[in-house]
Amino acid sequence: MAKRISILGSTGSIGTNALRVIERLGADYEVFALSGHNNVELLAEQVAKYRPKMAVVTNPDKIGNFKELLGESKTEILGGSEGLIKAASQKDVDIVIGAIVGVAGLAAILAAAKAGKVLAIANKEPLVVAGELLTETARENGAQILPVDSEHSAVFQALQAGAVSEINRIILTASGGPFRGASIEEIQNATIEQALAHPTWNMGKKITIDSATMMNKALEVIEAKWLFDVPVDKIEILIHPESIIHSMVEFIDGSVIAQMSEPDMCLPIQYALTYPKRVKGRQKPLRLEQMGSLTFEKPDMDVFGALKIGYQVAKTGGTATAVFNAANEAAIEEFLAGRIKFVNIVELIEHCLEKHTVKTEAKLDDLLLADDWARNEVKGCLNKTG
Ligand code: NAD
Ligand code: MG
Repeated sequence: MAKRISILGSTGSIGTNALRVIERLGADYEVFALSGHNNVELLAEQVAKYRPKMAVVTNPDKIGNFKELLGESKTEILGGSEGLIKAASQKDVDIVIGAIVGVAGLAAILAAAKAGKVLAIANKEPLVVAGELLTETARENGAQILPVDSEHSAVFQALQAGAVSEINRIILTASGGPFRGASIEEIQNATIEQALAHPTWNMGKKITIDSATMMNKALEVIEAKWLFDVPVDKIEILIHPESIIHSMVEFIDGSVIAQMSEPDMCLPIQYALTYPKRVKGRQKPLRLEQMGSLTFEKPDMDVFGALKIGYQVAKTGGTATAVFNAANEAAIEEFLAGRIKFVNIVELIEHCLEKHTVKTEAKLDDLLLADDWARNEVKGCLNKTG
């Protein structure tokens, strides 16, 4: 029987790539549910094409518009986070692809874990905010978490060659983003356009800004800690601008296993869907002779302060990661709206963490409260200076 898939966030960059992959995989996979927040035009097109059982419009202001655009349809239309939870945990669903941006996807991802689904997870923020809770819930309910983030998919693939207990180091590669090699002064006045001009990956705006601050890599260190159950001291970052090696694992015998391919998110999405099998893909073949050389450098943690803070926060744990993530999400919104400068993003994160009293052994409510507090703190700072 075909595997039935719910895509949470089907209208985004990962979501649209996931639909491409599912289409290519053919009759063994079918779309069960789709969700979108603002772009209901695209969601309506997707529903007309893939005819899912359910469609979720998470932004309540957009449901009316969506229904009008869709017209006559057999698809059940749901709204809000309850709709998303239903799409993620329905009995008939086999695989849930987490492709929402930010912590907004947390409740539905937790519901999928509780329902014992296979979770193909690109949405890294829930793992950063509630990694312990999410991985524990998955373990208790027999849900399998498979990474879609390219670095974590690479680590997961490398781990087919050895056990987690045999890991010496995980080396997460990073493209370095648009400000690779820039000085603190050059970054001071970076514009929105410059920050959105990613050299290798075509992604949603939030993660593109995260790549420019290198917050993305900081989030990925925490994501790796939870996905692979390794201490952060064993996770290193290496800048690799060509984005061919997607990450590496060094085992205790000194062997380093790297996963390489042309940069294309369809590959890690497909691997998560077909795992443990590999099937033919659309991937452009890798021609190393045409590349000539692959280069590497250590990141400058003084220029990219998010990295330094990320390691500290990963060790602190508790509500610190929730504040780290929420302050970043809120600050990016302000930056994209033109209300703060690029450098203020990391400054605001630092400010929130300094002011926050960390609660360890945090429950979901504590994490959500910390998230809310940090968002208000960012707004409060702007009102004061504004
Ligand atoms: P995107 O902005 O292109 O898409 C985001 C999706 O989330 C859209 O479908 C949108 O409708 C939905 N969404 C936005 N706000 C929402 C809300 N409040 N409630 C419910 N749904 C909401 O983002 P993306 O680039 O596809 O990234 C999605 C996730 O995958 C992020 O967590 C990102 O870090 C991660 N990721 C993306 C890439 C990539 O190549 N794009 C690579 C690795 C990891
Ligand atoms: Mg990544």
